[in-house]
Amino acid sequence: MLNLIIFGPPGAGKGTQSERLIENHGLCHISTGDLFRWHTKNDTELGQKVKEIMDSGQLVSDDITIAMLKEEVEKNPDAKGFLFDGFPRTVDQAKALDSLMESMGSKIHSVIELKVTEEEVRQRIAKRKELENRVDDASDKLDRRIKEYFTKTVHVLPFYKEQGRLTTVNGIGDIDDISKEIDKTVSALEV
Ligand code: ADP
Repeated sequence: MLNLIIFGPPGAGKGTQSERLIENHGLCHISTGDLFRWHTKNDTELGQKVKEIMDSGQLVSDDITIAMLKEEVEKNPDAKGFLFDGFPRTVDQAKALDSLMESMGSKIHSVIELKVTEEEVRQRIAKRKELENRVDDASDKLDRRIKEYFTKTVHVLPFYKEQGRLTTVNGIGDIDDISKEIDKTVSALEV
């Protein structure tokens, strides 16, 4: 198996780079943001539980998030590997993910951090807002999400860095160049 995490602030380009990684490596893509959006859109029991907190731009509790992620992984027992996107966002989530991978006889091989400044992120999302209409892209909520990333979520990075599992890629520049940089990292991994 090849298991990767794509990491970065809202608007870092995780979606674009994820698509390429999935295609090139046949990975199963699990985005907790997409899963939560699916649940709220379809008004499931879980969706009703998380709607308010998501709309406010805050993080859903670890218990709920980890349970949802575990279920999604278990739905794909034959996957060649996974690409996690939007998860983990806390050290407890990171530890839960390590245990889950271990229980499958595997591990997280690498975390790919798309490094983008807060200023660039704000500009990009302002543009995206004109094209899509994500409820959580409204400016006050967006502000909250960006703050959640730069004050809370970033603390997950040292956890992986200390274990030599972190690769940081400059997320500003030509999309193809960024993909090439990521490909280099992935090719160098010993799986
Ligand atoms: P962003 O574009 O801000 O990176 P996502 O699309 O990944 O956001 O997620 C949207 C929302 O879903 C988050 O603001 C949060 O409320 C919730 N969410 C997604 N993943 C997680 C997670 N791992 N832990 C807690 N909450 C999460």
